[in-house]
Amino acid sequence: MKIIRVDMTSQTIVTEEVPHDYLILGGRGLTSIMINDEVPPKCDPLGPENKLIFATGLLSGTTLFNISRVSVGAKSPLTGGIKESNVGGTMGLALGQLGIKAIVVEGKAPRGELKFLKIDKQGEVSLLPAQEYRSMRTYDLVERIFEKLGKNNSVLCIGPAGEKEFKVASIQGSDTDGRPCRSAGRGGLGAVMGAKGLKALIVEQGGKNPDPVKDPDAFKESTKILAKIITEDPFSGSMLPNLGTAALVAPVNSLGAFPSYNAKHGVFEGWEKISAEAMAEIQQARGGKMKHTGCSQCIVHCSNEYLDTDGNYLTGSLEYETIWAMGGMTGIDHFDTIARLDFLCDDIGVDTMSTGVGIAVAMDSGYKAFGDQQAAIEMVEEIAQGTQFGNILGQGPVAVGEYFNNARVPAVKNQSIAAYDPRAMIGNGITYATSPMGGDHTTGNLVGVYLGQVLNPLEKAGQVDMSRELQYFNAAADNTGMCLMVYASLNSPEARQAFLDVINAYLGPEHAIADLSGLGQRILKEEREFNRKAGFTNQDDRLPGFFYEEPLPPHNTVFPFSGEEIDQTFDF
Ligand code: SF4
Repeated sequence: MKIIRVDMTSQTIVTEEVPHDYLILGGRGLTSIMINDEVPPKCDPLGPENKLIFATGLLSGTTLFNISRVSVGAKSPLTGGIKESNVGGTMGLALGQLGIKAIVVEGKAPRGELKFLKIDKQGEVSLLPAQEYRSMRTYDLVERIFEKLGKNNSVLCIGPAGEKEFKVASIQGSDTDGRPCRSAGRGGLGAVMGAKGLKALIVEQGGKNPDPVKDPDAFKESTKILAKIITEDPFSGSMLPNLGTAALVAPVNSLGAFPSYNAKHGVFEGWEKISAEAMAEIQQARGGKMKHTGCSQCIVHCSNEYLDTDGNYLTGSLEYETIWAMGGMTGIDHFDTIARLDFLCDDIGVDTMSTGVGIAVAMDSGYKAFGDQQAAIEMVEEIAQGTQFGNILGQGPVAVGEYFNNARVPAVKNQSIAAYDPRAMIGNGITYATSPMGGDHTTGNLVGVYLGQVLNPLEKAGQVDMSRELQYFNAAADNTGMCLMVYASLNSPEARQAFLDVINAYLGPEHAIADLSGLGQRILKEEREFNRKAGFTNQDDRLPGFFYEEPLPPHNTVFPFSGEEIDQTFDF
């Protein structure tokens, strides 16, 4: 396995062996620990000292299923702290097959220069001029790349928002159909890529140099056991393949935890029109797909392909969090508009969640009415056009709130929360507050715990411990490249043991991991250490004031944890 370092300042490329200390790391574990080791915590996130790291999961390139996530890490321009955001599609497999563990992009291209980083299937790495692709949106860009270099390439790229260095800029990844609808959306990592002068990472598929599995027989056996668990689990084996992540709209809404109208209500009146069941009905009539394999080696197929009224592709991978941010939060209950907004965000290259929440804050401030579909579309377009309002929306919901002097901004460490109101799913509030990533839906989401009735979402008992446990487990799972849709189903001790057995069969006895929780804790410690050195204190581990002051209908509850109670989550 190797690490490739690309210095954008000198335009030089070097390849290194993976240091011994990093052998058990991949994905988020590797990006976070490398950032803590190498990036000056107080550096300008958009300056040359920051590093943008693409890391394959520990198990990428193996025959395991759902293992194609690529973690992207850097100091975030949005939160000012450490950031990892991972993306599915085909890149994880392409890099894994080449035995590439990480690509570290350093320095900054001379002002005005734009590059592609290209790796062919022999592992040759080169920087190519990409000036002619400046300002190009992602769908056009990927099509042009395929015309020029062939369709058997995986692409991670930025749109105009990344080039403009907006703090909500995403990095878009091509899916199995070659469409850039997969996103490393959070934390403004597209802005870091834009600041470095990198328009796209392009990797030819079909490399033949994956890292060997140490114990292939044990690996095969544990993979079989794990596959059985995943395909028989009601969430990953049935709910996701049939309805995708949108299946969460109905149950979260029924728990009164679906933040609507900029988090003024926990129930959205028009929820039925934006439910997975409604999407299935619409798409069945148009010939769309509710079950789509967005990523390589997937056995769950949570993705979808959304067609418009004429039966043409409108967007892909329309997820629960986007439906919430562009639907419930903005008061829009029209699926085609939500799908259009999703496509626009992917095409321009912005995070659907922070953008939807920014629009909701603007609507809450009286700039436009809740439910105004045309206004929402125009606002997203303004990001690409760089109008005065577009420039504000592109900096995230907190910037929108400051512009309108509105403190009702549901964000932590400047990043919007996700589709679970912390007044009605209170453990999610603990995770929002304490995750080094800021408001987030992947680092320790308790929704499965509530739907499985393991904890009452409104009672304090057990929430802090559960948030901590999930944050550790998720960090360890993010180390492997495994997709959250799969590891969210690894709830029983037997399932987690099978997962650990697969990892250890890959690593061999010399590097075997004793427990996943310990690995997750190590990753969290490094991330929080980086944030402390960057200037974060316990006061940054807090929710915005209105969550403590404004009761949320229908339960009419507020977030109940004091600062002292929140601080019991981690003792480091
Ligand atoms: S379950 Fe969904 S996110 Fe996970 S690998 Fe499959 S398509 Fe990708």
